[in-house]
Amino acid sequence: MRYFSTRGDQTPRRFCDILLEGLAPDGGLYLPTHYPQVDATQLAQWRTLSYADLAFEILSLYIDDIPAEELHALCVKTYTPEVFGTDEIVPLRELEDGVYLEALSNGPTLAFKDMAMQLLGNLFEYELGRRGEELNILGATSGDTGSAAEYAMRGKKGVRVFMTSPDGRMSPFQQAQMFSLQDANIHNIAIDGVFDDCQDIVKAVSNDLAFKRKYKIGTVNSINWARLLAQVVYYFAGYFQATGSNDRQVSFTVPSGNFGNVCAGHVARMMGLPIHTLVVATNENDVLDEFFRTGVYRVRSAADTHETSSPSMDISKASNFERFVFDLLGRSGERTRALFETEIGRTGRFDLSADPAFALAATRFGFASSRSTHADRLATIRDTDKRFATLVDTHTADGLKAAREHITPGVAMVVLETALPIKFAATLVEALGHEPSRPARFEGIEALPKRVVKLPRDAEAVKAYIAAHCD
Ligand SMILES: *Cc1c(COP(=O)(O)O)cnc(C)c1O
Repeated sequence: MRYFSTRGDQTPRRFCDILLEGLAPDGGLYLPTHYPQVDATQLAQWRTLSYADLAFEILSLYIDDIPAEELHALCVKTYTPEVFGTDEIVPLRELEDGVYLEALSNGPTLAFKDMAMQLLGNLFEYELGRRGEELNILGATSGDTGSAAEYAMRGKKGVRVFMTSPDGRMSPFQQAQMFSLQDANIHNIAIDGVFDDCQDIVKAVSNDLAFKRKYKIGTVNSINWARLLAQVVYYFAGYFQATGSNDRQVSFTVPSGNFGNVCAGHVARMMGLPIHTLVVATNENDVLDEFFRTGVYRVRSAADTHETSSPSMDISKASNFERFVFDLLGRSGERTRALFETEIGRTGRFDLSADPAFALAATRFGFASSRSTHADRLATIRDTDKRFATLVDTHTADGLKAAREHITPGVAMVVLETALPIKFAATLVEALGHEPSRPARFEGIEALPKRVVKLPRDAEAVKAYIAAHCD
């Protein structure tokens, strides 16, 4: 398998060439040159595999520069019941007739990002070891990404993590999760500012090419192809569990922000997995819902980006969306570049409403969308508790609400559970009047010693800190 860019750079690259990269040099995102096809016979053979073996089968279609035994060992080491809580790894439970929740958030940080990040940690350690190199991961987080990255990279050889976050703005639980890590290769940096300031600092440091090269700065953001690929696996696992031995189709509803999760569903569907509809669920930050309803993609300003009670979906633009648009436009790098570089650069938006390709988003690619508000989340959390004695987090609540608007008779509907309720306890208390329970291993973490340094809103201060901690 070879990879190329969504903006026209056709230089063929292999998986490990792009594993440690962010954007392609021309500013596009990496995609495989084609989607390997999986037929009914293949699906039947995969149905009975363990999650780790299924992951290996799917990954090997895309990775030919890691020997099979070693790739298999990395999958087996990553997807264990010890780390993810159950033998199924992503167990499905039926909520009501034909509507299921697929649990993706039983990993170390209780959000679905662990599914990909845990594999990424092992892939990074493997590849850096093979090359005899080191990597310093610099990131910005408002919560879920940073903790997932830290728990995936803690103690890994050759990797250090420098994670910036807005001082005092994460939930106490999220702060405790990150700051309680005592591993020497994990550095928490609380910035005197907001999340956008953290992102600006990361950009400024990465734009200093001399510094970036000298200190081997990398990222683990959601545009990383390996993360997306790891997420393809649980669409297959969800499909197998929802269909049992019959061959009905399955729809998925995906609480969405940067379009990474649902883009993995798109890849699974392109491979031939019988997915009926991919429902994109958004909150008040409805960039994606607007596109799927109208054909207009409009990047929001910071002032126009709302702080909501499903904060991991609070985005102004969807960084993986370009991958889907590339497929929608018949994989034209030229047209994708014209939209994302020229049009967005000039006007902050593009409009495909009059383009025949736009209709294909629904008809050929199976996309639909919905939007929720804070009131919807509260209502869904209460209703799910009352009728099914099940607590869902705010993001999953956005998903459930959207799913109910796109039910097709005879088609199973799987809602991806992207976080556990304890991560967003304040809204659960608002909805139900009491705190959700927490897994035993998180009892009292707020009281643990914290390992964090406070720095001003200044890229130079962060650079100096990195330089001082890279022996
Ligand atoms: C990151 C995240 C999302 C959004 O996922 P994308 O891949 O960015 O679309 C949704 N819910 C939770 C809990 C998350 O952490």
